[in-house]
Amino acid sequence: MIAKAFMTDLMQGLQRTLKYFFSKPVTVQYPKEKLTPFPRFRGFIRLVVNEDGSHKCIACGQCARVCPAGCITVKGEGKGKERHPVVFDINFGRCIYCAYCVEICPVDALETTGFYEGAEYDLDWLDFDINKLLEDYKKWERTFKK
Ligand code: SF4
Ligand code: SF4
Repeated sequence: MIAKAFMTDLMQGLQRTLKYFFSKPVTVQYPKEKLTPFPRFRGFIRLVVNEDGSHKCIACGQCARVCPAGCITVKGEGKGKERHPVVFDINFGRCIYCAYCVEICPVDALETTGFYEGAEYDLDWLDFDINKLLEDYKKWERTFKK
């Protein structure tokens, strides 16, 4: 009886192993191979500008207040429609990629990107200022020889 149960379990295990042995892998050999992140993937956050290049951000500070990691610093100047950020920092060394800041922004001045290669020894590099937050993050994607 025990032997029969053991053999049944063993055969089921082998069946499953064989099934996955011959099926296409779902993993990739990172860093030599990379997957394109899903559209809803939450990578590094970016600042968004208007078509004329002006800041969308109105320096209301809501993103800084909602950030659970306390890694956003915003300082603005001007009043009403003239208000704009003069300091806008995100420390990605502390960011937890929750995207609360993106969700709460009343003017859609922040967006998530597919950039995720932030494993860094230099923590200063992860402290993004207002200019770095406007860069095309693709240029920092790492390339490795196959
Ligand atoms: S993604 Fe989350 S942790 Fe990162 S800056 Fe935005 S609110 Fe803060
Ligand atoms: S990014 Fe949005 S929420 Fe943050 S300060 Fe600017 S306008 Fe306010």
